[in-house]
Amino acid sequence: MKKIVIIGGGFAGINLANGLAGRKDFHVTIVDRNNYNFFPPLLYQVATGYLEPSNISYPFRRLWRGKGNISFHMGEFQKAIPEENKVVLSTGEMSYDYLVFAAGTKTNYFGLENVQRNALPMKTLNDALELRNYFLQIMECATLTGDEEERKKLLTIVVAGAGPTGVEVSGMLAEMKRSVVSKDYPELMAPHESHIYLVDGGTKVLPPMSEKSQNDTFDALTKLGVEIKLGMQVKDYVDDRVIFTNGERIETKTLVWAAGVTSSVFEGIPLSCYGRGKRLLVDEYNGVKGMTNIFAIGDTCLQTSDNKFPDGHPQLAQVAIQQGRRLAKNFIAIESGKTRQSFSYYDKGTMAIIGWNKAVVDIPKPRLHFKGFIAWFAWVFIHLMFLINYRNRIRTLYNWATAYFSKDQSLRMIIRPQAKQNRAA
Ligand SMILES: Cc1cc2nc3c(=O)[nH]c(=O)nc-3n(C[C@H](O)[C@H](O)[C@H](O)COP(=O)(O)OP(=O)(O)OC[C@H]3O[C@@H](n4cnc5c(N)ncnc54)[C@H](O)[C@@H]3O)c2cc1C
Repeated sequence: MKKIVIIGGGFAGINLANGLAGRKDFHVTIVDRNNYNFFPPLLYQVATGYLEPSNISYPFRRLWRGKGNISFHMGEFQKAIPEENKVVLSTGEMSYDYLVFAAGTKTNYFGLENVQRNALPMKTLNDALELRNYFLQIMECATLTGDEEERKKLLTIVVAGAGPTGVEVSGMLAEMKRSVVSKDYPELMAPHESHIYLVDGGTKVLPPMSEKSQNDTFDALTKLGVEIKLGMQVKDYVDDRVIFTNGERIETKTLVWAAGVTSSVFEGIPLSCYGRGKRLLVDEYNGVKGMTNIFAIGDTCLQTSDNKFPDGHPQLAQVAIQQGRRLAKNFIAIESGKTRQSFSYYDKGTMAIIGWNKAVVDIPKPRLHFKGFIAWFAWVFIHLMFLINYRNRIRTLYNWATAYFSKDQSLRMIIRPQAKQNRAA
């Protein structure tokens, strides 16, 4: 039995493991710092209180119950020792025949220390819950303060980064402002006091999508009341003030940071193995350049051998899923002495949601663009289908249906569990 250790149980890691499930020639260990898999494209729905964390997450151990050749190990990667075919984790050491990095990315603050300290990221389920608690808390604070300037700062939200995450968060916050805040916070009805800004250093919203999608998104967000400021690069965030490189400032207690991601450098893997954005350079079979039995898939790798994507693939769920599946087939090919197939990304299209009944979809072949209700419906359907199992799909559908028809949501409890000292973990 060949031992495969996968660092990271996201889209790439679980699709690789699923592709090898039930086989007698491989034993797969998934290592993850969390004990659950989660669905990042719907994090903002948790952050805005439309979905519960359990709707978009699932425990690893339950996922592979009864699949004898797959195990889960909770722990954080610390270092690889390729000469000994060994990894060191926060929870012990592990040997491997093949090591696969599928650890995704982390928030990139571009070296802005105050932003890192004071802004709210949206990359993990913890981040999403923190954001939800924070949004609800500032609303309560705003109802309590008698100071008009303070209230304005509490009711101003700046979202940095006009990619899909920034667009989705700002759009959903604007929907909430319309349908929930206006009803449940009658004390906060002065519209001039509350603002939602979407800011970006570039000149477009949704830069990877078509021009039509960009224009439609700009118009739809503006109609929802989001104030879009492009060509504005954040320089600092200090003393409740977002400071831009052009000298402009916005006073706010909330900066949501959705401006970029970066991969991690994995100790033990030589620096020559990394490319743009610290992504591990891989060949057409996802083998890390210069290493014999170490692979990388998903957001953390950079593959420039796919003719259609000479600058590397976009960091999207579909790329990670397809790479995980392909690598599983290639491992099977290696062990059965067959020829491996190189990875080629099949682009099924991109989409982004802006608000209720508002979304944009670009399909590459045939080149098509949708917007409005049809695009929104397609978005809902596809995201439901990609959730990990029926339980999560049904729960999410239920939460969305009730929110859609009632134009309301009820997941608005501020819950902050407190850690006790002297506990085992
Ligand atoms: C808010 C948000 C919205 C997005 N929306 C979309 C969208 O609409 N459509 C789309 O296609 N893509 C979207 N993406 C991108 C998409 O989620 C990624 O492309 C995809 O998750 C990449 O899969 P992955 O398996 O490479 O990494 P991930 O899914 O990020 O999984 C990485 C896993 O590795 C684990 N891990 C990381 N470091 C370590 C370590 N040191 N030790 C142990 N475990 C570790 C993590 O806990 C995680 O489980 C979005 C991303 C975010 C953050």
